[in-house]
Amino acid sequence: MDKISVFCPATIANISCGFDVLGLALDTVGDIMTVQKTKEPGIRIAPIKEQDLPTDPEKNVAGVAGLALMKSLDYKGGFHIEIQKRIKAGSGIGSSAASAAGAVWAINELLGRPYTPLELVPFAMEGERLASGAPHADNVAPALLGGFTLVRSYAPLDIIRITSPRELVATVVHPQIEVKTSDSRKILKTTFPLQDGIKQWGNLGGLVAGLYTQDYELIGRCLVDHIIEPIRAILIPGFDAVKSEALGAGALGCGISGSGPSIFALSKGRKTAENVGRAMSKVYDSTGIAFDLHVSEINPRGVKPL
Ligand code: ADP
Repeated sequence: MDKISVFCPATIANISCGFDVLGLALDTVGDIMTVQKTKEPGIRIAPIKEQDLPTDPEKNVAGVAGLALMKSLDYKGGFHIEIQKRIKAGSGIGSSAASAAGAVWAINELLGRPYTPLELVPFAMEGERLASGAPHADNVAPALLGGFTLVRSYAPLDIIRITSPRELVATVVHPQIEVKTSDSRKILKTTFPLQDGIKQWGNLGGLVAGLYTQDYELIGRCLVDHIIEPIRAILIPGFDAVKSEALGAGALGCGISGSGPSIFALSKGRKTAENVGRAMSKVYDSTGIAFDLHVSEINPRGVKPL
């Protein structure tokens, strides 16, 4: 095999109580990437039609992640990468992570699978270092492993794949406003009251338990963020109204996806998730802010061949 096309999923990081540690993969939102082996060494990236993204492999996360993988194997050949970019960069649903994860997954396949998906995470993290300055794993881990993932520790890297209930469906609304990741980091406080921490880790533990035991009520009770959301919500116009509409329409919980501006909700069942999407959309319809709406099951596999 010298050519493969893959689906590279969008991801939701943080998930309310899991700031910087939790993430999940989406099933119906993602990029398409085609990777082909070449004799010419290195990585070449075809011009990307949908968005203005660099084709220089040192400046595109797909190139950086792929080169990190090739270097570790001392691989002397090359790859041509074509990206159909469907996830908008800066949307807060892991646009860069999808490309970094897709590239390493596809190259690994073409090289006969020297690594497991879990072992590919550090290479994809190199792409994230390029995109945001920090080699974070909360989007690339679910993109590569599927389902929900927990980054328990970075040193040493310890990523846990979490089982989630079948009927959990995500709704994502992406208002077309720009929130710079650097701004949404800058406004965060570096300390918080112990009481907030206690509530937060209570919810994080409860959420993980709820996912394993398929306890939707418990999942709903735990989708609360006492630390980050109250600060970041001010960067997203209409956030409070969108959240209240989502909960009113039956969502288990609702919060900021990654560093925003996308807002996610989780619901039991597709029908409820679609109703939640309609309710969330109403807010931006009435304010005239353009938006994209996605409703998606949780993707159990992560990157997958087409
Ligand atoms: P999101 O907020 O959706 O997670 P990111 O902030 O992670 O998106 O990534 C966007 C940044 O990564 C932009 O600065 C973009 O130029 C850069 N970038 C480089 N290569 C890619 C790529 N292949 N796909 C998406 N973004 C890329």
